[in-house]
Amino acid sequence: MTGRPAGRTAKIAVIAGDGIGPEVIEAAIPILDRAAAKHGFGLQWERLPYSADHYLRTKETLPDAAFHHLRDDVDAIFLGALGDPRLPGNEHARDILLGLRFKLDLYVNFRPVELLHPDLTPLRNPGTIDCVIFRENTEGQYLGRGRSSGDEHVAEEVNTGKGVERIVRAAFEWAKAHGKTRVTMSDKSNAIPTHRIWQETLQRIAREYPTITAEHRYVDALAMELVREPARFQVIVTNNLYGDILSDLGAGLVGGLGVAASANLHPGRRGGLFEPVHGSAPTIAGKGVANPAAAVLTGALMVEQLGHPDAARDLERAVREALTIGARTPDLGGKSTTREVASAIAARV
Ligand code: ATP
Repeated sequence: MTGRPAGRTAKIAVIAGDGIGPEVIEAAIPILDRAAAKHGFGLQWERLPYSADHYLRTKETLPDAAFHHLRDDVDAIFLGALGDPRLPGNEHARDILLGLRFKLDLYVNFRPVELLHPDLTPLRNPGTIDCVIFRENTEGQYLGRGRSSGDEHVAEEVNTGKGVERIVRAAFEWAKAHGKTRVTMSDKSNAIPTHRIWQETLQRIAREYPTITAEHRYVDALAMELVREPARFQVIVTNNLYGDILSDLGAGLVGGLGVAASANLHPGRRGGLFEPVHGSAPTIAGKGVANPAAAVLTGALMVEQLGHPDAARDLERAVREALTIGARTPDLGGKSTTREVASAIAARV
């Protein structure tokens, strides 16, 4: 990821969204402010109303003017979650979340999978789980191309040379910058012939990074290997759909969605869209038990991208320490509330 110069106030647009989104975002913001104050920079938050409630009230998902504002005037977007049982078609989320990813060309969905405490994994002897998934974010099946006629429903998957090359390159660049020695590309080229573009691209790009071992796994085999031997993976790069699925699998290996962070980025450009991997979790919304750790860790990715890696490390350490002393919401087997976990994290920044 490309950072920005330190020592200024960054403007952050906040789309707290639906369900537990507002709860985890409002819990995370004071913690991020505390880290910013400690590390000598400022965060200026601008809360935007776009959500299921807003859509149901106004029929507005994300107006053009708001999109232009998000594109031109802010340093980053911090998003909680979108999804509401009253909108089973998820039309507002499609416009806001997918719309921003596509229209801002945020082609990297960066999803760390890191075991923050040994007892968070369901595995017996996992070793050190510390890998990052580079999920292609602008192509694949998520473009929504296809057709339905009669009994036939066709979903098209788009893989362009440009799209595959830039995500594979982003994975290698990140690996190189972070001292990683292996990049694993995953596709299903044994069954889907067009996935050969992924193989060809991997081989071509890998030649430019002689210190990094490039390897390939079919996605089904990778899913199994991730469970059996997660510690051997460092950087995984894959398409939009497989990245979505593998990152939930990865989250399951390290404590679940309550601790899974993600960033949507266009390397080399400022800003990005930062959102926890989890959705709006309507069944626990409003009960004060949502785990704020994913939002705080997502905030850490954001401050790193804004040029403050020390603050990011500090936030990660604070989350780790809070988990270690047992500040845990029910999803992690604890009894703490969102607020209690947030206070425990804040006290350790
Ligand atoms: P989406 O379709 O938007 O991904 P979903 O309902 O399928 O949404 P999530 O909302 O991500 O999936 O959550 C699935 C379940 O995981 C929730 O019902 C909840 O039990 C748990 N969960 C997710 N995020 C959290 C969190 N931050 N804290 C506690 N539990 C969570």
